[in-house]
Amino acid sequence: MIDPVDSLEKCLAKLPGFGRRSASRAALALVRERQRLMDPLIDALAEARRSVCCCSRCGSFTTVDRNPCDLCTDATRDSGVLCVVEEPADVVRIEESGAFRGRYHTLGGKLSPSRHMGPEKLRFAELADRVVREGVTEVLLALSTDMDGDATAGYAAEVLRGTGVKVTRLAFGLPADSGISYSDPLTLKRAIANRIPQ
Ligand SMILES: [Zn+2]
Repeated sequence: MIDPVDSLEKCLAKLPGFGRRSASRAALALVRERQRLMDPLIDALAEARRSVCCCSRCGSFTTVDRNPCDLCTDATRDSGVLCVVEEPADVVRIEESGAFRGRYHTLGGKLSPSRHMGPEKLRFAELADRVVREGVTEVLLALSTDMDGDATAGYAAEVLRGTGVKVTRLAFGLPADSGISYSDPLTLKRAIANRIPQ
């Protein structure tokens, strides 16, 4: 394959959901259909690169001209309940389920000794700060159901202990060893409705 197409294929193959074969098909489709596929993709990438950033308050994705994000500034949402997630993608999943009307806090990952992910790399300090400053009464931990998720939940509860806030966790029922991203809306809705004390 000629070099530029080969490079394109390699870039695409790094994306989640792409295998080598699908990356190759996508790359060929892009060079074949410049106007219909490649030009809009180039524009969308440039725009996303320019305008998408992380919300200074919750850490989820937003745009530079809407920071804090719409979820943080929406006055109809319950500011008493803060849902703690690992990644911005988890916020999207929970919003899709329609089961939560409070606010969010994104940690930026989960604790993981094997991947050298210590608490100093996650947004725990900001979490404790927000709980106090925003008068939060309940923190709902919506973390993965694997060992790292458990450790992260335990650490978050420890960090929040002094604040007196009620800490809850999603009910069991989420698939074991999975994150929010893999849960379907109905399962997520049930897990939120039946949340349990941490
Ligand atoms: Zn926000």
